[in-house]
Amino acid sequence: MSQKCIYCKSKNVVKNGTRKRKVRTKKSFLCRSCDRQFVEPDGFERMRHDPKVISRAVHQHIDGFSLFKTQYHLWQHDGIKVTRRTISQWTKKYSLFLKSTASFSKTKAERKATL
Ligand SMILES: [Zn+2]
Repeated sequence: MSQKCIYCKSKNVVKNGTRKRKVRTKKSFLCRSCDRQFVEPDGFERMRHDPKVISRAVHQHIDGFSLFKTQYHLWQHDGIKVTRRTISQWTKKYSLFLKSTASFSKTKAERKATL
C-alpha cells in the first residue's frame, strides 16, 4: 500500500476501517509513526490550505493576475505564504475542475468587474 501519512509522511500506516462522510465513504488510516488518524486525501485535502483560498487564488490567476500578484494578495489578504510554483500548480490542477462550478458561469468581463 502506497498511502503515506498526511502529517509525517511516514509509510507506516495501517487501514483503520472506513469513516462515513456526508456523501461518500472514505478509507481511514492510522499512522503508527505519529499515532494520528487521517482519511484518504482527495485533491483539496492534499493541499495545506483552505480550498476557498485555493479557489480564489486560481480564479484570480485565471482572471489575469500574475503569479506574483496572486502570491502577494494571498500574503496580504490571508497571511498565507506560498511559492509562485505552488500557485501555478494549483491553477493547472484545478482550473478544469473550477470551470465546472457555478461561480465560473459568469463571463470573464463580469468577474473582472467584481474584483
Ligand atoms: Zn504520521
